[in-house]
Amino acid sequence: MTKTSSSSRNNVPRQLRNLGVIAHVDAGKTTTTERILFYTGESHRIGEVHDGTAQMDFDPQEQKRGITINSAAVTVHWKGTQLNLIDTPGHIDFNIEVNRSLRVLDGAVVVFDGVAGVEPQTETNWRLADKYRVPRIAFINKLDRVGADFHRVVTMMEERLGVRVAPLQIPIGAEGDFRGVVDLLSMRARIWDRDDASAPYREADVPAALFEQAVRSRARLVEAAVEQDEAALQAYVNGEDIAVDVLRAAIRKGVLAGAFVPALAGSAFKNRGVEPLLDAVVDYLPAPDDIVRDGGQPASAADPFAALAFKVVTDDHGAKVFVRVYGGRLGRGDVVLNTSTGKTERVSRLYEVHADKHIERDELVAGDIAAVVGLKDTLTGHTLSDPDHPVVLEQISVPEPVIHVAIEPKASAD
Ligand code: GDP
Repeated sequence: MTKTSSSSRNNVPRQLRNLGVIAHVDAGKTTTTERILFYTGESHRIGEVHDGTAQMDFDPQEQKRGITINSAAVTVHWKGTQLNLIDTPGHIDFNIEVNRSLRVLDGAVVVFDGVAGVEPQTETNWRLADKYRVPRIAFINKLDRVGADFHRVVTMMEERLGVRVAPLQIPIGAEGDFRGVVDLLSMRARIWDRDDASAPYREADVPAALFEQAVRSRARLVEAAVEQDEAALQAYVNGEDIAVDVLRAAIRKGVLAGAFVPALAGSAFKNRGVEPLLDAVVDYLPAPDDIVRDGGQPASAADPFAALAFKVVTDDHGAKVFVRVYGGRLGRGDVVLNTSTGKTERVSRLYEVHADKHIERDELVAGDIAAVVGLKDTLTGHTLSDPDHPVVLEQISVPEPVIHVAIEPKASAD
């Protein structure tokens, strides 16, 4: 199915997150991605991984092996923000692909197995994400499993990954009885339906038995967050209440600066924890213009056009070249210079790729990730640029988070 997008999407900055889901094989990356597609309305039927219907697994070979080999991007929307999910391979053999996908994304959700905790591949991918300074959120999954322990995994992360972890939630119930979380910002419980897996959570008071633990955990979160913001720190030192918006903004600064990693609790398989995870992606992971590249300005639509081809996928739309646009704009019919081959090429169509449809775009702007059709000689790793301003993106330096960026309070009421 093909539709033409009607609204003008050319205003920059937009509500956009380019993110990857990173995990050791079997930690639940595919299941979590499936649930994201479900909750964002892209997939109204929950496909289970073991029956081979997972929507990110395009390649039959992948489905058979249960390993996601291909890196492609899928666009979804959550509460007014566009999320481009970049598929990152989890298997050790595909480190080149992991490297490439880490280059094009701005932030990541790292999925941990609630029983196994930090596994070798998580550790390898974590170091790579450190190298590319990718801001991260941890999703501690499979908390419904026997032997799962959220707090143990948090400790393991701190010890093995050498990272400061700031839990945003504490779980309610464990193993077979894992049924919800306490949100430490709002100090409200979120409880999932025991029987109806697709029902949204309901809010409730914090269970009395968890109240003291929640207060202590919140204090630790506030302590980590306020260090990121002088005014918030001053207020905290003076014993004043920190407003939830101020706290959220301070957490975001901490995530962008790599000062700590927020942790969330869930069970993707049981549909628990995925909506708060999506909220956290919007609240804490960077927008494209929160990231500085080339050691200078954040990517801007006013710059000359430059894009990196990070994946070529051939299907019935032809050869789709997935690109990340770093600067300027790219319109349908434009002629671009492939600086890697020295040849000019003409763009015939631009697509936003959703799980179940392609949406045609008239134009892409800096920060966008989408598919370009019509390029005959463009391969993975090639740079496309404005013929009058040739650049080679291989030389792009490690992105630096912009931590002075003004943080807008959340539009929606909590
Ligand atoms: P990936 O290799 O990281 O993509 O992991 P998958 O999403 O394929 O999950 C691996 C296995 O763990 C599958 O059999 C899933 O059904 C199962 N699984 C994923 N998430 C959970 C969870 O939250 N709880 C339980 N009990 N099993 C899960």
